[in-house]
Amino acid sequence: MGQKGKKYIGAHVSIAGGIEKAIINAHKIGATGFALFTKNQRQWRSKPLSPDSIKRFKTLMAKYQFSPAGILPHDSYLINLGHPEREKRKKSLESFIEEIYRVKQLGLWYLNFHPGSHLRQISPSKAIGFIAQSINTALRESEGIVLVLETTAGQGSNIGSRFEELAEIIQQVEDHSRIGVCIDTAHIFAAGYELRTREGFEKTMEQFQQIIGFSFLKGMHLNDSKAKFGSRVDRHHSLGMGEIGIEPFKWIMEDSRFNNIPLILETPDPSKWAEEIALLKSFVGTCRKETNFKTSLPNLPSRLSVKI
Ligand SMILES: [Zn+2]
Ligand SMILES: [Zn+2]
Repeated sequence: MGQKGKKYIGAHVSIAGGIEKAIINAHKIGATGFALFTKNQRQWRSKPLSPDSIKRFKTLMAKYQFSPAGILPHDSYLINLGHPEREKRKKSLESFIEEIYRVKQLGLWYLNFHPGSHLRQISPSKAIGFIAQSINTALRESEGIVLVLETTAGQGSNIGSRFEELAEIIQQVEDHSRIGVCIDTAHIFAAGYELRTREGFEKTMEQFQQIIGFSFLKGMHLNDSKAKFGSRVDRHHSLGMGEIGIEPFKWIMEDSRFNNIPLILETPDPSKWAEEIALLKSFVGTCRKETNFKTSLPNLPSRLSVKI
């Protein structure tokens, strides 16, 4: 049977000791893709990437045969593009644009980020407007990189726990060729999107298709959830050990809608990553569902000659 395209499977690996270390860390666990921070994610400012570091990064990308198609850089947790206060929003935006430049320098394609928070100071729709405005400025100030909005669990005042909110942001973004979405399985599950049953999984993905559209899907975070269904609490768990269970991850691996994008573990135990990646890889191509049966039927002659 086989599938068109490729599954890029990896984890969010450490950049301790230099950004290029991410590639080695990913290679060691058998990953075909990975995520990374472009700098210390808990600091506003950081030194620019040195030409040496950029060169080493690109050399190792080629050496270990990673494609930018499978890499999903994540921005700093400090950034809030929807911040109610103008000065703080500006600081976030400047830092965000700096990260876009870093990703571009490394020869990568995406920057994954959380939409933002209204901090209970403004309405969600006002925050959504600010987020879209920030994205539009960032797109104007940069080239090429696709900005990837992440679905959130809806903890606190975080925007992005409903597909509708992400669709609203996308609607207000001027360049649709440079905006995308990353589904985090733990987040959408905690936000109240069912994944545990085949029927629930299909319904969730149908909703995603109708409200946002798979053409905008540029990545996934594959996490089980310590938090209960609909709890709006963001707590990741190792695959198969949480409330979601292992089956939905098998369905994702078997499904061509999730081809050619980074599929990234953010599970809490790095010592399990190699094993988790191997398990996910073993699910690929075990497809029991072909959408078009007719193509797999042998060609029949147009007229059967039957002797009676
Ligand atoms: Zn994230
Ligand atoms: Zn995530």
